[in-house]
Amino acid sequence: MISSDQVIYLDNNATTQLDPAVIEEMLPFLIKYFGNPSSGYGFGAQVRSAIDLARQRVAALLGCEPGEIVFTSCGTESNNAAINSALQLDPARQHVVTTAVEHSATWRHCDALSKRGCAVSTISVDGDGNLDLEELESAITPQTAIISAMWANNETGVLFPVERIAEIARRKRVLFHTDAIQVVGKIRIRLADSTINSLSLSAHKLHGPKGVGALYVSKRSAFKPSLIGGSQENNRRAGTENVASIVALGKAAECAASALGEEATRVRAMRDRFETTVLEKVPDTFVNGDRTARLPNTSNLSFAGVESDAALMMLDRHQLCCSAGSACRTGSLEASHVLRAMKLGADRTRGSMRFSFGRFNTEADLEKALEIVPSVISKLRSLSPAPVVREPAGV
Ligand code: PLP
Repeated sequence: MISSDQVIYLDNNATTQLDPAVIEEMLPFLIKYFGNPSSGYGFGAQVRSAIDLARQRVAALLGCEPGEIVFTSCGTESNNAAINSALQLDPARQHVVTTAVEHSATWRHCDALSKRGCAVSTISVDGDGNLDLEELESAITPQTAIISAMWANNETGVLFPVERIAEIARRKRVLFHTDAIQVVGKIRIRLADSTINSLSLSAHKLHGPKGVGALYVSKRSAFKPSLIGGSQENNRRAGTENVASIVALGKAAECAASALGEEATRVRAMRDRFETTVLEKVPDTFVNGDRTARLPNTSNLSFAGVESDAALMMLDRHQLCCSAGSACRTGSLEASHVLRAMKLGADRTRGSMRFSFGRFNTEADLEKALEIVPSVISKLRSLSPAPVVREPAGV
């Protein structure tokens, strides 16, 4: 097994290292406090209180009320649940507006819905990955149930103007859901001042465990559950709660809230130095996506004449972890749907690499990456090897 101290981990958009404070908080709920939160006695009630605390902490991070948080099993479930709810609310409104660059947790779901008869409009982006808001507004019809648009793109880090989209949705009287899975913990959010109806997050992107997420549902918005059964989560998501993971998500949210300002500045400085130095050292390198409206931690680069799969393999030999666009497609020769939507051209799309920084990256990681990346690219350019095909993973 390769342990975390052996690698230079620059793939924080794929997943993040658990914060030790999170592990410490969750472990007793796997060992000592195993009661069912729905039980009437004190041994169960104390677990219910722990879930309530986690709900308060997540709400504090999002600037909303605890009652607006529904715990789920992952970001994918949150995205699916928001769209499914909107479609269940009114049988006459079976139209979804989404974008060309969503994560598979949205676009594959929309694709499946369209095969079942639901109408789906997909809004395009420009060469910088920015959304065409006029196209979005004109796609809305009286049958539209919901707009689902991500807040930040997982491949490029490009930020969509979600407050402007929320305003269009409010004016047109349709729901607006945003996949904020890459945003939560990276930039400040205050949902109390917003007209966003629902928002998805996932714990493993903010130094929490995998397999737990949350859906914010505004108290102004009706909601129909996807999972029917017990009355957990105030009848919005049935199933006995994944207590330890929910507690962990709460702690991760608390850590993120207290680290946010300082961490974003530190991470941005690392990302910027990485990007500037690579651009200086490696000729014919391009930054993909808007460089202003962008997450502070993400750098998506294309190296002309280099296949990203070959580069990933060589970087892996140096124990440097990063992705070809998104980890979902790593090893696949299928070009990124995000970069294709940006119409960047075949060479630039095939050579795209995503480097994403996070809380536990150090200056030493940065220095090593700045030695390894330019030397790998120049080696590959001198060899120009054939691309390698492996099975796609799924993050
Ligand atoms: N949406 C975005 C933007 C993501 O980056 C991811 C994870 O990679 C997901 C959805 C899926 O989240 P989860 O892995 O928690 O299902």
